[in-house]
Amino acid sequence: MDSAELTGTLFDIQGFSVHDGPGCRTLIFFKGCPLSCHWCSNPEGKNPFPEPLYRQQKCTFDMLCMDACGHKAISLEKENLTIDREVCNSCKTFDCTSACCTGALQKGGYTITTGELHRLIERDRQYWGSRGGITLTGGEPFFQPEFAAAILKRCHDAYVHTAAETCGDIPVSWLQPSLPYLDWLFFDLKQMDPARHKEWTGHTNQQILANARWLASRFESRMVYRMTVVPGYNDYPEHTRQLASFLLSTGRKEINLLPLHHLGREKYALTGHSYYTEVLTTPAMDSLQGMKEILEAEGISCYLGSETPF
Ligand code: SF4
Ligand code: SF4
Repeated sequence: MDSAELTGTLFDIQGFSVHDGPGCRTLIFFKGCPLSCHWCSNPEGKNPFPEPLYRQQKCTFDMLCMDACGHKAISLEKENLTIDREVCNSCKTFDCTSACCTGALQKGGYTITTGELHRLIERDRQYWGSRGGITLTGGEPFFQPEFAAAILKRCHDAYVHTAAETCGDIPVSWLQPSLPYLDWLFFDLKQMDPARHKEWTGHTNQQILANARWLASRFESRMVYRMTVVPGYNDYPEHTRQLASFLLSTGRKEINLLPLHHLGREKYALTGHSYYTEVLTTPAMDSLQGMKEILEAEGISCYLGSETPF
């Protein structure tokens, strides 16, 4: 391995995306996120380290994993396999996943060097067409600031179009090193009220809004805001007007509204998390259109779902 190479932690790489930047793209999912949004569709991206993913439907309860785990993190309680995830958080061996022959236990996340990742990215180049490239997502890509900047620089130097999606809840110094190598940015917003933001994501929006302002004035390429529309949380007219006013104050006037979906539901059980969003419905098209009208009346370009023009 080249001594200048850095190592990062990912949980997935997916090709052929057409919704996360221009053309056809390879999405790189970084592990680790400072927020805990109740509606997160990638709960396996929350922890910054690899972790066991458990699919009970595939489990035969032969307990090979329990025998293999040298840390005694697995037990059988009331005919249910229980994993002490606090113990797993510092595991380096993942012997449980090697012992499991049914695929019920798998390792979620892996480390990779910048060189290895760059080779995988180059392999996809033939599928991108003239406008495609890579998009860093997660998790929060800038939660691993040096690794993100290093892979973006490699791609930039190799004439690969680069994009990223950020939750913005990180020190600005973690964003800064990547900016010279980024061609496109999605910046996520959730809720304009700091207390409501904290209630549903674990943190206030103070750092996020400050970073949005900072980036809006310094990032030289296109920056599009994104917001998942969560009924009853951020879809009412007063909030939409506050959102419009914030966007106008930053000078960036594009937002992509994404309707809440439940596609990530199954993944909560795999990581041992509770699924908060069970009680929430997906937003009605009328509600999304109403938000779009309010935003457009303020001179903001609003794209619903996959409508963002790239
Ligand atoms: S080894 Fe796999 S199939 Fe066997 S009990 Fe463990 S998780 Fe279930
Ligand atoms: S991840 Fe490590 S500590 Fe956790 S159950 Fe598997 S072997 Fe044991």
